[in-house]
Amino acid sequence: MIDTNRFTNILQVLFNKYQDQEIWKEVNETLEEIGGNIDKMDFYDPFKHIIIGILAQNTSDRNCVLAYSGLKKAIGDINPENLANANEDFVKEAIRSGGLYNVKAKRIIEVSNYILKTYNGDISSILKESTEEALKQLLKIKGIGIKTAEVFLVYIGKRKLFPIDTNIKRVLWRIGITNQKNKYIIIQEKVKKNLEEDKFQLAHELLIRLGRDYCKAPQPKCSDCPINELCEKNIEPPRKKRKNSK
Ligand code: SF4
Repeated sequence: MIDTNRFTNILQVLFNKYQDQEIWKEVNETLEEIGGNIDKMDFYDPFKHIIIGILAQNTSDRNCVLAYSGLKKAIGDINPENLANANEDFVKEAIRSGGLYNVKAKRIIEVSNYILKTYNGDISSILKESTEEALKQLLKIKGIGIKTAEVFLVYIGKRKLFPIDTNIKRVLWRIGITNQKNKYIIIQEKVKKNLEEDKFQLAHELLIRLGRDYCKAPQPKCSDCPINELCEKNIEPPRKKRKNSK
């Protein structure tokens, strides 16, 4: 069972720490660095958000922004028609900087085709549905997983959900809120039962920030961490290095 008071205190400490800072600073720094072709509103356009969500899978924000910038330079307007009709090798080359470009290029084309055929190119029509139904429909799209679907519904549909990414999963386990083996839905239910709905999005963003700045995957920076005294520090032992086969 979650100690609600401790969880509330952790979020309060993080809120105090981050209130004046950008939650999405890596995105903004990369946009500034490339100085170029991405309008920030692209992140709030339903179709473009889905494509950015695919590019964000298993990579950093920086690589995702670079890949999206490459795609936009190569394709022009990011819309379902242009991407459904794009050559797969051309898309792979355009998004190469984002990692997993073979899988993601295929996914982007398939998702664009699906949205074109099923929603006549207008994925925003999903947002007329209830959250449950919208989620059900998004999860029917091959290449859209639960996290990408929920992030879409939070940021585009303003729904009250608590998406769990790899940062949040790791942080919640280390601070002692969830069990390392808990599955997505279990982690989410534990958090949702102990947090008011209107705090879901903020808590999601604060825990991501904590994971990126302090509670990093390979080596947490506990001595500098703002929630050091509130954390159980369930830190996994470092993985053994594989022996060189030579
Ligand atoms: S104290 Fe250490 S383990 Fe706990 S959240 Fe901070 S960095 Fe992570």
